Amino acid sequence: MLDIQKIRSDFPILSTTVCGKPLVYLDNGATAQKPNVVIDTINRLHTRQNANIHRGVHYLSEACTEEYENARRSVVTFINANSTREIVFTAGTTAAINLVASSFGDEFVQEGNEIIVTIMEHHSNFVPWQALCRRKNARLRVVDLTGDGDLDLEQFQEFIGEKTRLITVAQTSNVLGTVNPVSDIIKLAHSYNIPVLVDGAQSVVHSKIDMQALDCDFFTFSGHKFYGPTGIGVLYAKEKWLDVMPPYQYGGDMVATVTVEDTTFADLPLKFEAGTANYIGAIGLGAAIGYLEGLGMENIQQYEQELLQLAHKLADETAGMTVYGRTKRKAGILSFLLDGIHHYDTGMILDKMGIAVRTGHLCAEPLMTYMGVTGLVRASFGLYNTKEEVQALFDGIKKVQQMLG
Ligand code: PMP
Repeated sequence: MLDIQKIRSDFPILSTTVCGKPLVYLDNGATAQKPNVVIDTINRLHTRQNANIHRGVHYLSEACTEEYENARRSVVTFINANSTREIVFTAGTTAAINLVASSFGDEFVQEGNEIIVTIMEHHSNFVPWQALCRRKNARLRVVDLTGDGDLDLEQFQEFIGEKTRLITVAQTSNVLGTVNPVSDIIKLAHSYNIPVLVDGAQSVVHSKIDMQALDCDFFTFSGHKFYGPTGIGVLYAKEKWLDVMPPYQYGGDMVATVTVEDTTFADLPLKFEAGTANYIGAIGLGAAIGYLEGLGMENIQQYEQELLQLAHKLADETAGMTVYGRTKRKAGILSFLLDGIHHYDTGMILDKMGIAVRTGHLCAEPLMTYMGVTGLVRASFGLYNTKEEVQALFDGIKKVQQMLG
């Protein structure tokens, strides 16, 4: 089991105050805080080892290159990929999805083709596909929900066909917390030879991910939601796709030879890593992986489920509160509204009590429109949150209701 107090002492920001109150940080879905091991790694690199990678023969450059490639190996092990050739470092989930939408999209999507997305996608996994479909005169097909936050799996079956070029779906919704049955969706898609992109931004932090078991074609996640640095993320892609996809950006580091007439490209994965990589971010991400592996993803998942269950129990006991997303398979995300109270007001008053939650459309406007709301309040739990903090959220909610209800 996890020693939460010990874990909390690894995250310096958790002992700070906001508005004179101890910080209760419940906005982990937006970004997670960083443990000392990540902060120290970044600091060490900047103070003692910084040099550009894949370039110099000098000591610092070689040391940084080795750590960068070690970080890539850590990702391979952590998500059980087949090889480092499948791991492209990007600036984050958004950058990884744009890479696929642009490179795969340009090569394989033609007029009249279809891309299947879902109504619960984050804008990151919606807008790039909408833009691609506009560019190519293709059709975006949007799978709806059934009941309380589940995808309509029959609609996948209905939409899928000869025209489909790709299915793209979040493994875990950043709004509803729903853990989608991506394995089933992938099996269905593959039976039609259709590739699947899984947006793992919200899933990789809450549970063990296994690329070989999942068998998706593309998987994306961000370092900063993962207790790692900002500006770094991962695109996992099967080699068979990266081999046939054109480069996304052109420049240094992604080339093999350049002449005035022509250019040949570097081997995978560097073909997709043009320019100076965020090597300090990647090495910091490697440190975050080491930290999470030390705690064990199964332990983290189990603990966060306890926090979620408590939050649901307290929500059930709170009059005038509506929870959005009550499906059985959920990650530690609780989105809600209080009767007659605007979500911004709820967020602002909670902030005065030191409680950080997210408010607004949560980068999922199509879903908000679908659910008939303009925004929600979202509390999202991380591995360092405590049951006392969940209770503090509900004490805060009561105060908001007393003030504005
Ligand atoms: N997808 C999902 C499900 C997310 O929750 C987020 C971040 N909120 C993103 C994509 C985008 O991640 P980033 O901003 O790190 O690129």
